[in-house]
Amino acid sequence: MKFSELGLRPELVEAVEAKGYTTPSPIQARAIPAVLEGRDVLGGAQTGTGKTAAFSLPMLQLLAASEFKGQHKRPRALVLAPTRELAAQVHQSIKDYGDRMNLRSVVIFGGVGFQPQIDRLRHGLDIIVATPGRLLDLCQRGEAQLSGVEILVLDEADRMLDMGFIHDIKKVLKLVPRERQNLFFSATYSNEVKKLADSMLQNPVEVEVAARNATADRVDQEAYEVGQKAKAQFLADMIQIGDWSQVLVFTRTKHGANRLAKHLDGQRIAAMAIHGNKSQSAREKALSLFKSGRIRVLVATDIAARGLDIADLPYVVNYELPNIPEDYVHRIGRTGRAGKAGQAVSLVSDIEEGYLWDIEKLLKKEIPRYKLNSGGEKVAVSKPATRSNLKRPAPGQNRQSRGGSGRGGNNGGRQGGGRSGSARSGGGSPPRRSRGRNR
Ligand code: AMP
Repeated sequence: MKFSELGLRPELVEAVEAKGYTTPSPIQARAIPAVLEGRDVLGGAQTGTGKTAAFSLPMLQLLAASEFKGQHKRPRALVLAPTRELAAQVHQSIKDYGDRMNLRSVVIFGGVGFQPQIDRLRHGLDIIVATPGRLLDLCQRGEAQLSGVEILVLDEADRMLDMGFIHDIKKVLKLVPRERQNLFFSATYSNEVKKLADSMLQNPVEVEVAARNATADRVDQEAYEVGQKAKAQFLADMIQIGDWSQVLVFTRTKHGANRLAKHLDGQRIAAMAIHGNKSQSAREKALSLFKSGRIRVLVATDIAARGLDIADLPYVVNYELPNIPEDYVHRIGRTGRAGKAGQAVSLVSDIEEGYLWDIEKLLKKEIPRYKLNSGGEKVAVSKPATRSNLKRPAPGQNRQSRGGSGRGGNNGGRQGGGRSGSARSGGGSPPRRSRGRNR
């Protein structure tokens, strides 16, 4: 199958080929013809599947088919995305794919000044790519007008709901015309997501690609038993000893991300944190330094990392396990893309053992567990026989203790563990250090 066989105009096929893509991905092969026919689409796909091109290419074609009237502040297509980074990435893709066409697009997100966005909106445009909050602000100020929207795209709808955007989305839906084409993309389908999709879509073509766990299957996964306090040094040593070049590390809290980046930097491992409290320019800078290899480690929270397109990432580390098992799949989906092998390492303290069980249940497979013995050697550890032995955190306990202490979080000894026969010590043991480090 070639892009030219999907019914796309030559300018779009050329633009795609200029990016080096020769074969449509499965979601593109199935969604592009449906969108071109004017159908609503319900797309089950996560980042890495080529979903952005799946909606952008046919959207550009449909917009180009009707003449651009340059109407003041009345876009004909609106793409809603959950985060600034995703909005910026989608916008960049639209610009790349549409660079041989006479269409204007604008990206709108919070955390930056209003005026440049207002100036661009006033120039007339065809497409807005936006996060919901700032878009509504601009609508309220009369600077953005959604009554001309013919195509509405919801990208990563599940994450938008996770982030509490449901009310904003409903407000946006009131501002767009009832008659429109809807393209709805979500990696997961909770009842809430289904309800929103049902309320928006009319007789949609359903396109589901790669079972969610397919990504996980391509990734080499390992879990290390490490006490919370020992994790920072454990990770620093792993990166140094393994000579890891580009590592995306996930923490559960913003404070935790900052603290870890600082610790790694102190160990001469160039690292930066990326999370919701960072300014837009700081986030962009960290991302571009990471992509270009000038920093080795990017420490991120789930929300900040969502939708980031970082190609060929060799290592993902779960510094703390997510309490939502699906987030684990999203996290490790950053590595092992496009058939390349990736490695995902999870550092698991006693208190997180229950999360690992939930993740294994979702993946329907066991993640090999290891620990480092007192000599710093990696030894396999078997999964405890029953889950009932495990101590699970009380609701809210993790978040508080990790975010609040400022000194490395939970105390392994205090957690108790409750695993009969486990050889794990509360603090774990860091790997053997390479000689000559930190001189
Ligand atoms: P997305 O799922 O939209 O985040 O896309 C994931 C990555 O795949 C991006 O880097 C795209 O540029 C790339 N990509 C999109 N379509 C194709 C394709 N047909 N062949 C190869 N790579 C692609």
